[in-house]
Amino acid sequence: MRSRRDEMLIEMGLTPVWHLRRADFQAEAEAEIASAVAVEAPAAHRSTIAPYAPPVSGDPSSATGHSPPLSDERRFTIMRMDWKALKETVAGCRDCALHARRNKTVFGVGDENADWMFVGEGPGADEDAQGEPFVGQAGKLLDNMLAAIDLERGSDVYICNVVKCRPPGNRNPEPDEALKCEPYLQRQIELVKPKLIVALGRVAALNLLSRDASIASLRGKVLEYKGTPLIVTYHPAYLLRSLQDKAKAWEDLCFAVKTMAALRSAETAPI
Ligand code: URA
Repeated sequence: MRSRRDEMLIEMGLTPVWHLRRADFQAEAEAEIASAVAVEAPAAHRSTIAPYAPPVSGDPSSATGHSPPLSDERRFTIMRMDWKALKETVAGCRDCALHARRNKTVFGVGDENADWMFVGEGPGADEDAQGEPFVGQAGKLLDNMLAAIDLERGSDVYICNVVKCRPPGNRNPEPDEALKCEPYLQRQIELVKPKLIVALGRVAALNLLSRDASIASLRGKVLEYKGTPLIVTYHPAYLLRSLQDKAKAWEDLCFAVKTMAALRSAETAPI
């Protein structure tokens, strides 16, 4: 009988079924990650893959990257929230125009202590109706992609989006909408403390990396979001339309698995 993983690989056009090679995986992974990180990461992170360093308690100004200054009261408040406060705040948010047409906010789902975090762009119609990310067709493919690398929603995986309300007609979120939601995503990442973020598609990559670039140019590298390693792959909704890129998405998933293995072994290696 075929496993879910095999079915997913067949669906991706990857037959005969591919299997992740466990032997030699670690050494191969470490060598690949070391070269990818050396190419991409800023100088401060070149010698190691830096573990995620959350801001000093209650001080959002200590986060690196593109955070606005402390005078941003809203950001400051959000950066101090625990899960309960954050969920309640998102549920009641009216800070951009998207709130007016939403049915449900779509906060995020999964293991709140996960090593893996997958970030999409924003809810579609199914997600808006159910209040959970990636529950439509693209979500089914995402679940299959997770199964292919022995992961499942809710177990060591957290899934969320750049924006928490559905952009009408499934358009991309506008920059001001993404900006208003950005502190929520930042706080989710700080609370989960994933070892690795996987950005699903260009909109997620653009917002997490604060730079516009093609998916092709971002794939296959270990980038970072405020010190957390980040990998970019295609959005599952795009893969549903573009069969030719499914094999590349599989390469990205294998790269992500290798990266995670290297991150875990770096963490346990003696100093
Ligand atoms: N597409 C996304 O980016 N996120 C979802 O939750 C669903 C579809």
